[in-house]
Amino acid sequence: MNDLLQRLIEFHRTARELAATRALLAGVPEEMRALHDEFTAAKEALGALEATARETRKARVAAEGAISDAQEKLRKFQQQVPRVRNQREYAALLTEIDGAKAEIKRLEEQALGALEAADRSIEELEARKAAFVDLEARYAEELAAWEARKPGVAHHASELETEAERLRAELPRPILAQYHRISEKYRGEALSPLRRSEGPGASFWFCSTCNYQVRPQVAVEVRTRGVIVQCEGCRRFLSPGEG
Ligand SMILES: [Zn+2]
Repeated sequence: MNDLLQRLIEFHRTARELAATRALLAGVPEEMRALHDEFTAAKEALGALEATARETRKARVAAEGAISDAQEKLRKFQQQVPRVRNQREYAALLTEIDGAKAEIKRLEEQALGALEAADRSIEELEARKAAFVDLEARYAEELAAWEARKPGVAHHASELETEAERLRAELPRPILAQYHRISEKYRGEALSPLRRSEGPGASFWFCSTCNYQVRPQVAVEVRTRGVIVQCEGCRRFLSPGEG
């Protein structure tokens, strides 16, 4: 069959394969997908743990700084003790000293908490890093294999481009324009095969995508004369289908 419909079908097949090949080149092969996702997730988790470890370290340093400030304050109060002039001043100073001591105690507890949190997050980070080494090695291996395959795939893509160009040139412009509109609307699924109704009674043909019934003479035109017809239901181009 060297009719217009056949040319459209061939162009469609080539365009679809080209799109799939380009998508493959922009991503990773299907058999690598699971490992790729696992690797990406593990890497992100590791990054988050590293951020947490950095934060807890910072919190620890901040807590230690606050303790030394409070200790300095306490020392100053204590230095004032010999200089008090009466009982009232002495009582007031003692209150300040007690307050400073309580503050130091509170800050020390906070620092201990920060220290424990920092230790825990570093421990978890180390464990994750150890597990990641193996995953990273497996991923690197598969990635290298894919990189080795890539030039061949890229070559195939350029062959498909040439072929699509050749087939495109053989199609009338209005049909091409319509094809691209429909293809865009249906994510590349611009063609729909005809299907024959099964079961008892008079058989008829319908669009296998949207189930719209096709008039018998239209089915004949599509199936035997290679006429380009769009489904009245979904606007896809009808292809002969099987049988
Ligand atoms: Zn349809």
